Amino acid sequence: MIRTLVVVAGLLCGLAANAADPLVVYSAQKEPSIRPLLDRFTAETGIEVRLLVDQGPVLIERMAAEGPATRADLLLTVDAGNLWQAAERGLLAPLESAALEARVPAHLRDAQGRWFGISRRARAIVYSTERVTPAQLSTYAALAGPEWKGRLCLRTSKNVYNQSLVATRIARMGEAGAEAMVRGWVDNLATLPLADDTLTAQAIAGGECDAGIVNMYYVARLKRAQPDLPVAMFWPDQDGAGTHQNLCGAGIATHAKNPAAARALLEWITDAPAQRELGRLNLEYPVNAAAEVDPVLAAFGTFKADDVDLAEAGRRQADAVRLMDRAGWR
Ligand code: FE
Repeated sequence: MIRTLVVVAGLLCGLAANAADPLVVYSAQKEPSIRPLLDRFTAETGIEVRLLVDQGPVLIERMAAEGPATRADLLLTVDAGNLWQAAERGLLAPLESAALEARVPAHLRDAQGRWFGISRRARAIVYSTERVTPAQLSTYAALAGPEWKGRLCLRTSKNVYNQSLVATRIARMGEAGAEAMVRGWVDNLATLPLADDTLTAQAIAGGECDAGIVNMYYVARLKRAQPDLPVAMFWPDQDGAGTHQNLCGAGIATHAKNPAAARALLEWITDAPAQRELGRLNLEYPVNAAAEVDPVLAAFGTFKADDVDLAEAGRRQADAVRLMDRAGWR
C-alpha cells in the first residue's frame, strides 16, 4: 500500500521540476492525532508527508525486516521504551541539531541524538470524585496499602506504558522496593487487569473500583466529551521524585531516503507554534517549554514530573516484565 503511494507520488513528482521527494513517516500516532499538523507542515515547507500507521512495536519489526529497502524516513512512536528498542536495533540514525537540543530538554531525548521527544504524557492516578478525596492520595506506592484492598483497577502488564512505569520505578526505588509496591497493587485489584486506560477510567466512573493508573490524555479525552464524568487526575510522588512522565517521540531512520525532510519535520514540530497545535490534537504536554499547554490539560493543574533518564524505560524493560510476572500482574 505505502509502496504504491510512494511510487505514484514519485512519478507525479518526476513530472515537476524541483519537486521535493515526499517524506515517509512510520507513525504510531493515529491519522487524526497528527494529520492536521502534517498538513500545516506541508503548507509551510512544500514537503509532502506519507503516513504508514501501526503500533510502535509492529513498525519497528517492519523497519528491521525491510532493512536498507525500507521506505521509512522517520519513525514516530509513543513511549520511550519503544524508541529505545528502535535505537538499540540500529534502526535510527544519530542527528546533531542545535535547534532540537535547544527545544527538547536532555532527559527527553536520546544522548546520541537517535530520537527526540515531541510531546510529553504523564502516567498518574485517576480516582473517583465520588468515593475518594485528593487528601487520601499521595504516592504510587501508597496505592499498595491495605486501605485500597479491592478498590484498584489497572491495565494489563502486557502494555508498554506499565512496563515503562515499572522500569523507571525500579530505577528510582530499586528492584525490591518496586516489587513490594507492585505486589501490593496486585493484592488490591478490584477486577482482572483491563485491556486499556479508557476502560480503567470508565470502570472507576462506573463504580467498579475507586482508583487506577492511566496516561492523563485518556482522561482528558473522556472529560472533553463528558465534563461531568466523576473522575479526576491526581499527580503522585510530588514530595519525592515526581510523577512518571513518558513521551511521544521520533527519530530519523538509518536507511532514510529523505533524511533532510525528516530533519526538517523534527525541527518544525518542536518549535512552539507546532507544539501548541500538537497538544491540541493529542492532548499531551509540549516538550518545548516555550509552548502553551492545551486548556483541557491546564485544568488538570501543574505538577513536578520525574526527570529520570527515559532510556531507563528501555534498559530495564525486561527486568520490569519479569517483576510484574513474579507479582502475578497479568
Ligand atoms: Fe496511548
